[in-house]
Amino acid sequence: MEGGRDNALLEAYFRGRRVACPKCSYNLRDLTFGGEAPVCPECGHPLEVLVSLQRNPGPPPRRSPRLERADKTLLKLSIVLVAVFAAAATLLKLLA
Ligand SMILES: [Zn+2]
Repeated sequence: MEGGRDNALLEAYFRGRRVACPKCSYNLRDLTFGGEAPVCPECGHPLEVLVSLQRNPGPPPRRSPRLERADKTLLKLSIVLVAVFAAAATLLKLLA
């Protein structure tokens, strides 16, 4: 892209916005470049604006109600099994 336009885009982006240099984290807020190449005044890292579009990932997929019920049933079953084994162990200890 043409240098002057790049600088104008960068300056518009930095105006009133706290932006950290990607290399040294220097605050680039309100930075202007005049006609100079856009670099970080602290570390000299070249600066450029990149624009990307990302697809909205949307809400996480819902689990089926049937799967939810199966999960709850398995949890209850395992709790019951632990209780039964604990009772059996106690009973065996008493009988021994
Ligand atoms: Zn820097």
